[in-house]
Amino acid sequence: DRVLIGNKVSEGHVNFIIAYNMLTGIRVAVSRCSGIMKPLTFKDFNYNKKLTFDYHGNELTPSSQYAFKFKDYSPEVFRELRSLFGLDPADYLVSLTSKYILSELNLPGKSGSFFYYSRDYKYIIKTIHHSEHIHLRRHLKEYYNHVKSNPDTLLCQFYGLHRVKMPISFQNKIKHRKIYFIVMNNLFPPHLEIHKTYDLKGSTWGRRTDIKQSSNDDSNDNDKNTNHHQVQVLKDLNWLDTNETIKFGPLKKKKFLNQLQTDIALLSKLNIMDYSLLIGIHDLKKDELINLTDEEIQDLIIGSPENPILETNDIVSNVSSLENPQTTNILHVDYNNLNTQLEKRPGKNYEVSKVVSHFFKQYEGGIRSSDAFNNDDDYIYYIGIIDCLTNYSIVKKLETFWRSLNHDKNLVSAIPPRDYGQRLYEFIENSLESNTKFKPYKDNPKYN
Ligand code: ATP
Ligand code: CA
Ligand code: CA
Repeated sequence: DRVLIGNKVSEGHVNFIIAYNMLTGIRVAVSRCSGIMKPLTFKDFNYNKKLTFDYHGNELTPSSQYAFKFKDYSPEVFRELRSLFGLDPADYLVSLTSKYILSELNLPGKSGSFFYYSRDYKYIIKTIHHSEHIHLRRHLKEYYNHVKSNPDTLLCQFYGLHRVKMPISFQNKIKHRKIYFIVMNNLFPPHLEIHKTYDLKGSTWGRRTDIKQSSNDDSNDNDKNTNHHQVQVLKDLNWLDTNETIKFGPLKKKKFLNQLQTDIALLSKLNIMDYSLLIGIHDLKKDELINLTDEEIQDLIIGSPENPILETNDIVSNVSSLENPQTTNILHVDYNNLNTQLEKRPGKNYEVSKVVSHFFKQYEGGIRSSDAFNNDDDYIYYIGIIDCLTNYSIVKKLETFWRSLNHDKNLVSAIPPRDYGQRLYEFIENSLESNTKFKPYKDNPKYN
C-alpha cells in the first residue's frame, strides 16, 4: 500500500523537470496575483491565466531552464481561498518554491496520480485526471461558498489548480502532454509523528490493508531523505478489526458529526463519490514532551507588552493546558510556529501572520481526544475529507451494475453519491457511538 514517504525529487530524478516546471509556474503565477484584493465576481471564477516559459524569457515570464506552458485556473478565487484558510501569501510561495526540492510519494495509487510534498511538508501537490480538474472548475463557486460559510469544514483545502503543458518523450516519440495538478493542505503536521493512518470510505469491499510488521531494518533506504517514518495506510476493515473509535466527548462529537454531515451533503449534491475520511492519529503517550523551565513558560504566557505571541491561536490553545496544575511543566507547542515566532522575537516588532482558527485544527494542527474515557488514552486526531473530485460517471455506474449482480450493494464502493455519503456518515457515526465508557467530568480542561 501507499506509504506517506517520498523520495527527494532533485536534478536527475525522472520527474524532476515536471516538478521544476510546476513550481516555476506556481512561483511566477502566484507572485503575480498578490495585488489588492477586490470582491470576487463571476468573471474571476472563469478566468484562467496562461504563461509561456522558455529559455530566453520575455516581458511576461522570466527565463526558464525548460520550455513549457503554464495555466493558472481562477487565480483570484484561489488567492481568496488561501486567505480564507489562513495562509500567508509569502509563506506559501517560500514553502512551495524554495530550492525546488519536493519529495515524491513512492507509489502512485490506482488512479495514477503522483503526490509531491513541499519541502517543509506543509503542502501536497497531486496530479489529477482531466475529468477531476473539470469537476473542480465546474463547482468552484459551490466549493468557495461552502468554505466561506463553513470555516470548520473538513473538506480538502484546495490552494491552487494548474496545468503544465510540456514535451514528454513516450515510446521514442515526443508528445506534448498536459498535466493537471492541485495544491492542497497536508492534513498531517510536519512536526509530529502520526502513529496510525486510516483512509475510510464506509465500505468493506476489499477495504483491508495487510498489516506488515514494522521492521527496524533500515536497509530499505527509501526514506533516507526524510525524518518521517513510514506509516501504513489502514482501511475500513482494519478499523473494525481493532474496534478503533474516535474518542470525542459530547461537544466535539456533535460538532464533528454536524460538520461531516454538512460536508458530505455538498459532495452528494455535486455528484461526487469515492472520497475518504482520512484520519491520522498521534498518540500523545508516545510523544516526547518538551520540558520548559518555569521562566520559559512565563515568557510564553505573559510575553512582553509588545510581544504578540499570545495572540496567536496555536499558542493560546496550548497555553490553556497550563491552567491544569498537573501539566505545568509540559507544553505542547507547534514547533514550527514557535520556532519562527521565537526567531523573530528579538526585534519584537514583527507582524503576526493572520491565524484562522479552525475547530478541528486547534490543537497542534489537529483535534485532541476528550479526556473522559476513564483511561489514559490521549490522542490528537487529524481528520479531513480527501480525494473528493471524482464524479459519479458512467464508468462508476457500470461498476455498480456489474458488482451489484454478485454482491451486496452495501459492500461495493461505487454506489450513487447520496448512498455513498450516507454510508460513510453512518460508518463514522458508529465509530463514535461505541464509546460507552464515557464519563463526563467537568473540572477537566480537556473535557468538552
Ligand atoms: P485512489 O483514487 O486510488 O484512491 P488517489 O491517487 O486519488 O488514489 P488519494 O485517495 O487522494 O489518491 O490519496 C491517497 C493517499 O494519500 C491517502 O490515503 C492518504 O494516505 C494520502 N493523502 C492524500 N491526500 C492527503 C492529504 N491532503 N493529506 C495527507 N495525506 C494525504
Ligand atoms: Ca482515494
Ligand atoms: Ca482518486
